[in-house]
Amino acid sequence: MGTAEKHWPPGTQCVTKHDHSKPKPRELAFRKGDMVTIIEAVEGKGWYRARHNETGQEGLLAASALRERGAIRADPKLSLMPWFHGKISGLEAVQELQPPEDGLFLVRESVRHPGDYVLCVSFGKEVIHYRVVHEENTLSIDSQQYFSNLIDMIEHYMKEQGAICTKLVKPKTKSGMKSAEEELAKAGWLLNLKHLTLGDRIGQGEFGDVLQGEYLGQRVAVKNIKCDVTAQAFLAETAAMTKVRHKNLVCLLGVILHNGLYIVMEFMSKGNLVNFLRTRGRALVPTQQLLLFALDVAQGMDYLESKKLVHRDLAARNILISEENVAKVSDFGLARVNPKGADATLLPVKWTAPEALKHNKFSSKSDVWSYGILLWETFSFGRAPYPKLALKEVTELLEQGYRMDPPEGCPPTIYALMKSCWELEPGKRPSFKKLTEKLQKELKHLRDI
Ligand code: ADP
Ligand code: MG
Repeated sequence: MGTAEKHWPPGTQCVTKHDHSKPKPRELAFRKGDMVTIIEAVEGKGWYRARHNETGQEGLLAASALRERGAIRADPKLSLMPWFHGKISGLEAVQELQPPEDGLFLVRESVRHPGDYVLCVSFGKEVIHYRVVHEENTLSIDSQQYFSNLIDMIEHYMKEQGAICTKLVKPKTKSGMKSAEEELAKAGWLLNLKHLTLGDRIGQGEFGDVLQGEYLGQRVAVKNIKCDVTAQAFLAETAAMTKVRHKNLVCLLGVILHNGLYIVMEFMSKGNLVNFLRTRGRALVPTQQLLLFALDVAQGMDYLESKKLVHRDLAARNILISEENVAKVSDFGLARVNPKGADATLLPVKWTAPEALKHNKFSSKSDVWSYGILLWETFSFGRAPYPKLALKEVTELLEQGYRMDPPEGCPPTIYALMKSCWELEPGKRPSFKKLTEKLQKELKHLRDI
């Protein structure tokens, strides 16, 4: 594809392809691999005005000098702890750290004390082994500095020597593993901690807090996942977010490897759809707005379906509302962070299609079932579905053909849509494209009367 055909909207993150150290007036200086944010296309010239993400400078650069950042492949070899070698002996560790190089290191699990870790560091001509002591859910080498996980510990000793022989300099990557940090940086998804300012807590997720913040002057939301194992799982799932861009999907700005994992997203000032509807109610939110939200979600999901991505946790709590009242789908790909496979007790039963609950058959059609529940939540202004029914009763009743009644004041056409989403046979449910068309028709109808 020629560069002339590229069109990057404002906000697009691009990576520079080469050095440009002697800029002409109004041009931007940059080095190969720098990240810039597109501000606007310069009319018909193949040039862009952009802001340099590190220096904050603004200027012009040629489209041919840029590439859009690439997607991250969900690769099990991608590791937040590429220096973790598992259960190997001290001797094997010494062999791994050849030839000697001050500050070359790895972490292994102790063979003699299973569950304990050992930090092995090359120094002088020797390898020094530091036992990492577990104490009440914390880790320590010297019983003075304590860390909540290995990632934090390594991050610390890469900055400060502390009680060990040398500052850690270079991780010895386990063979077959790839450093997540390197891969993320190469593709352009690694953000810089020094540009991030954190503010108030705006939400609590299942795996960590969501904070408000600012990144290079842009308001952002930051999800912090502190547990190293969960962070690793999230990393694989975050890959899905690097593959997509749509006006109805919450946009991932990038990640920071600090304190576990920071996931930096666009800030959605009006919070999730459930709270939005509950706090405003019927008096303040007209039917047309409900339809617009429903349409936004259907369009975002149609796009996900076209990318062959299954959400698995579509629900009004995972829809976020922007300052301009645009509804966007969030938590896609992040929904089932469960490395051990599907754990039925963790499924959102009242939102999950029967075939997904029973046989673990998740598909875009099971997302359509959940979308039907989301429609019900929307038109009931944020009520919890199947009020008064226990989880177990729901599953049984559904099999007998029971379906929820329409919410009060729900247009009959919309209730018909819900019911079509709740067909027992997945093939009989509409596609998100079909749902989009029907909602557009409904909106037009509403405007015509
Ligand atoms: P989890 O799915 O891990 O439990 P969520 O991603 O649903 O957590 O986030 C929990 C809450 O934090 C949301 O319901 C919402 O209120 C808030 N939140 C999450 N992401 C954003 C965002 N990008 N902008 C604004 N608020 C957000
Ligand atoms: Mg959520």
